[in-house]
Amino acid sequence: MDLLNTLVEKGLRRELPTRDEALAVLATSDDDVLDVVAAAGKVRRHWFGRRVKLNYLVNLKSGLCPEDCSYCSQRLGSKAGILKYTWLKPEEASKAAAAGLAGGAKRVCLVASGRGPTDRDVDRVSDTIKAIKDQNEQVEVCACLGLLNDGQAERLREAGADAYNHNLNTSEGTYGDITTTHTYADRVDTVQKAHAAGLSACSGLIAGMGESDEDLVDVVYALRELDPDSVPVNFLIPFEGTPLAKEWNLTPQRCLRILAMVRFVCPDVEVRIAGGREVHLRTMQPLALHLANSIFLGDYLTSEGQAGKADLDMIADAGFEVEGAGEVTLPEHRVSEGGGCGSHEGGGSCGSHEGGGACGSASASTSMCATTTAEPEVANEARTDLVAVRRRGAGTDLAPNA
Ligand code: SF4
Repeated sequence: MDLLNTLVEKGLRRELPTRDEALAVLATSDDDVLDVVAAAGKVRRHWFGRRVKLNYLVNLKSGLCPEDCSYCSQRLGSKAGILKYTWLKPEEASKAAAAGLAGGAKRVCLVASGRGPTDRDVDRVSDTIKAIKDQNEQVEVCACLGLLNDGQAERLREAGADAYNHNLNTSEGTYGDITTTHTYADRVDTVQKAHAAGLSACSGLIAGMGESDEDLVDVVYALRELDPDSVPVNFLIPFEGTPLAKEWNLTPQRCLRILAMVRFVCPDVEVRIAGGREVHLRTMQPLALHLANSIFLGDYLTSEGQAGKADLDMIADAGFEVEGAGEVTLPEHRVSEGGGCGSHEGGGSCGSHEGGGACGSASASTSMCATTTAEPEVANEARTDLVAVRRRGAGTDLAPNA
């Protein structure tokens, strides 16, 4: 238990754990998972109380992407039967956003597939931000449009965007295995552009793409270095019709260990459970609220989540409360510093656009205090029954799930 006591003390002081300590969290056994959750929960409650921030995704433009991110159902050559449509009109996006806000969300994440926006796209999104803010002044708007060119982050900021999401997704060392049409450095550059323009940076990862424990620790340490305000943690949704369709590597316990590790490394940052929450945590979702202080309400970009009402019931039943529009998410020191942790998609959330993965093999499940690479985790059975392509909300005539 020395490991967990040390990590709690460091988390309360915002002190960076050593890499061996982070790896040891991933290497703990299923028998120890409640101890790990309890320890990381102390850090979560210290910085965020029992509040849960709700975020709502609006997919402004779905599918038809020229990039080749292996995890993504919207990629070039994807055979996944997702909705495909071009830019929503500002009033259509505003209507979808309103449903999420009525359900309790305080942030709307405007996401569009593609390598990055043209200047005309930035104009369109600016009009959409205005339409949403005209309806609700307090709403936080995060844009997630891919790689940014010079000046685009500033224009989004001027248009009223509060945040920009672009995920690192995985370690620098494995990035080339999951995407060949852009680089890890491109992604880092966009997060830095958002930061420099005064946008709250959101950047996270996708777990379950076959990466090693070292890769997971690498990407989380790289995120801490970039200092986003929010870190979405996606769990790969292995969509049929994508190259990673067979990558069912995660167990609920493994997901909890990953979230705990992220909490220990980024203790005072908004840690958000993003795509894959229902698919991989399943009935263990309420335990994850002790680690993350933020989730997406309702559906993801191309897949359906559980009913928004079920999200709200889960939060209440687990003894947490939905963060109100007037409450500040981040601890005071981060707000005054103007910094924090954030990203584009990964299985269904913002950040990298979709959530998928790379090829890899490792995972962990050994004994507490292990400090070396873990044994491969027993792979899950494929649970394609848990993956439902989104057929409602934005881009359809059916009401959104919120
Ligand atoms: S993650 Fe984004 S850039 Fe990559 S294929 Fe999907 S939509 Fe395109």
